[in-house]
Amino acid sequence: MAAHLLECIDCGKHHVPAEVEYLCPECSSQQKPMQPLAGLLRCVYEYNGVARFFEKDALAANTERGLARWLHILPVLSPSSFPPLIVSATPLRAAERLRVELNLPELWLKDDTVMPTASFKDRASAMVVAVARERDRETVATASTGNAATALAGQAASVGMQSVIFAPASAPQAKLAQIATFGARLIPIKGTYDEAFELSIEACREFGWYNRNTAYNPYTVEGKKTAALEIWEQLDYRAPDWVIVPTGDGVIAAGIEKGFSDLLAMKLIDRVPRLALVQAEGCQPIVRAFESNAEQIVPEHRPQTLADSISVGVPRAGRWAMKALAATRGTAIAVSDDEIVSAIAMLGAISGIFAEPAAAASLAGLKKLAAHGIVKSDETVVALITGSGLKDVAASMRAVKIPKPIKPSLDAVRHALGV
Ligand SMILES: [Zn+2]
Repeated sequence: MAAHLLECIDCGKHHVPAEVEYLCPECSSQQKPMQPLAGLLRCVYEYNGVARFFEKDALAANTERGLARWLHILPVLSPSSFPPLIVSATPLRAAERLRVELNLPELWLKDDTVMPTASFKDRASAMVVAVARERDRETVATASTGNAATALAGQAASVGMQSVIFAPASAPQAKLAQIATFGARLIPIKGTYDEAFELSIEACREFGWYNRNTAYNPYTVEGKKTAALEIWEQLDYRAPDWVIVPTGDGVIAAGIEKGFSDLLAMKLIDRVPRLALVQAEGCQPIVRAFESNAEQIVPEHRPQTLADSISVGVPRAGRWAMKALAATRGTAIAVSDDEIVSAIAMLGAISGIFAEPAAAASLAGLKKLAAHGIVKSDETVVALITGSGLKDVAASMRAVKIPKPIKPSLDAVRHALGV
């Protein structure tokens, strides 16, 4: 592992991890509830000293899988601290038919539906569980729209750590079932994810639990950045031109920016890819701030979208996401629920990947960006597919029509086929 400091993204001050756990004390002291977080912390390493571990030959000789592969730029001391529920590198799929359909010959799908608990969130949860183990924390808690909680519950279960989950009672049943099956203390909230977020922070203070809340815990970004590192390695040590990111809290966007920025700091790439953040029309506070060039993100108090994973009215990492958009000359776009439903069907039928609504939002956004000429056909594009359709079967049923059952006879088959 590499020693690290925690740099405040707002005031730039460096903090020592032993002294500061979550946010920059100065910048967060005026934090108002239900607002994007001030004083988010960014891990910084001695990049010059560790770059050699990521040169081509060194990586080829590196036999570690999953997060441990990147240990020299992670806030963890030992590879053995990572949970045994390995978060291996996920496939970067060429998706040939989708390439033809969208006229994007260099389109790649980063398929995180195959993660141990079936979403991108295993990256952050495995990281936080590893940190918690090294700090002898017995209980870890989080608020979540569902996937982060599922991942935390699963990763914690694999090492015998207690997890406490605050999730909206309205979360898809499959996610609640996963959380409960993994033995977490599930506390469903009669309210939004944003309210669950506030409550979980209070509960962690009260009961002394380690808090995994996305963005609030700086190591969530460090987990998520591993997707960028994998993409770089899988593209033969190249950065793509664009990464398409379904966006709720903005932490995946922060993670992708951080991963490529780490590579840039080690002089392993010469630029960070442009980010395209995709939100749902019924919950698009980051898109609105981007389009109006606003200094502040105005929270959406009544998020309304079937894409529950990005139904986040108060983007906690919104400040980081906006900085990432500016730094990468990125863009932000909203898509309707109907466009998301169409994208679920298209992704399934053309690429064989079953995605939950938020994950399909990536494709829905990319279709628009390509149609508007913002993403061009000669550019290399990676779309993040962040969660499995099995997480929310009810949503996918809106994308398809299940035929009526028939009698078990060949005649009935002929009739059904219309032949
Ligand atoms: Zn600060």
